Amino acid sequence: MSNQMKALEKSRPEEGLWMVRAPVPEIGPDDVLIKVHKTGICGTDIHIWNWDAWAAHTVPVPMITGHEFAGEIVELGRNVEGLEIGQRCSGEGHLIGRKSRQSRAGKFHLDPGTRGIGVNEQGAFAEFLRLPAFNVVPLPDAIDDEIGAILDPLGNAVHTALSFDLVGEDVLITGAGPIGIMAGAVARHVGARHVVITDINQDRLDLAARVADVVPVNVGTQDLREVMDGLKMKEGFDVGLEMSGNQRALDQMVESLVMGGRIALLGIPPGQSPVDWSRIVFKAITIKGVYGREIFETWYKMIAMLENGLDVRKVITHRFKVDAFRDGFAAMLSGSSGKVVLDWT
Ligand code: ZN
Repeated sequence: MSNQMKALEKSRPEEGLWMVRAPVPEIGPDDVLIKVHKTGICGTDIHIWNWDAWAAHTVPVPMITGHEFAGEIVELGRNVEGLEIGQRCSGEGHLIGRKSRQSRAGKFHLDPGTRGIGVNEQGAFAEFLRLPAFNVVPLPDAIDDEIGAILDPLGNAVHTALSFDLVGEDVLITGAGPIGIMAGAVARHVGARHVVITDINQDRLDLAARVADVVPVNVGTQDLREVMDGLKMKEGFDVGLEMSGNQRALDQMVESLVMGGRIALLGIPPGQSPVDWSRIVFKAITIKGVYGREIFETWYKMIAMLENGLDVRKVITHRFKVDAFRDGFAAMLSGSSGKVVLDWT
């Protein structure tokens, strides 16, 4: 292979990404080289595209962005065992240390020194990606490349949705972005009774209803309490999955939960936001912050569910050849897309 590749790079500290020629990464003894087939555009990539305060503070330039990918292994480091050239794969984009207490306890996703591909390390928006063999997740034939390319955000959805037992429970999801929508599909798959998803973006609520058997509610125009009455929910939702980072959504969630309800928080508020803690105390609510995916338990569960009927394909609303990446980012920036997948083949 030539030692140059196409890559989508944050080349300068300003808005945009640029298609550049970059050297194919050299792999170390414990790494593999992956030929990238498809990638998903994440909200994180939009922050980097926009070059907002978080991105400017976090991402060194130049940096090849992207962390949602599927591809195939084309080179193995000399210490790598148990993987083969030609193996189709996705992989965990968090590169972890092995020294922290949590890491040594096997809770790899809680390692405080984690580095992210496409954020702190060269990423997956490229023809080739270097990844530690440890991070590789082989893909079964039943999972094609475009689903493989969205396993990272599906993993966020699975991790959040499986935070609490959902069997027979009524679940409120606030925020109908792709992860919220996929969490709705997961909640139904694992046996929730009613899954209500709220947003104020009607396009996304319509998408939610196409992807999963959920009840979409536009809280800009509908009364959530009336919806709950219509579903004959007497006391409130048992579990809340907060995906929006929106203060009013969280307040509404707390109000709508049963006594002793449980909340998993994945949405990130834009800054500090006031919380009515006494309400949470008196309702005896449990809150769990959700970070990333459990490595590799979430991956295992997600693949098992995909092999057994979980279907999230309709959440992919746009597909582009990578040379049309600007159209892909435009679709994301419109705020009404589902997942956008870029094809590198
Ligand atoms: Zn992502």
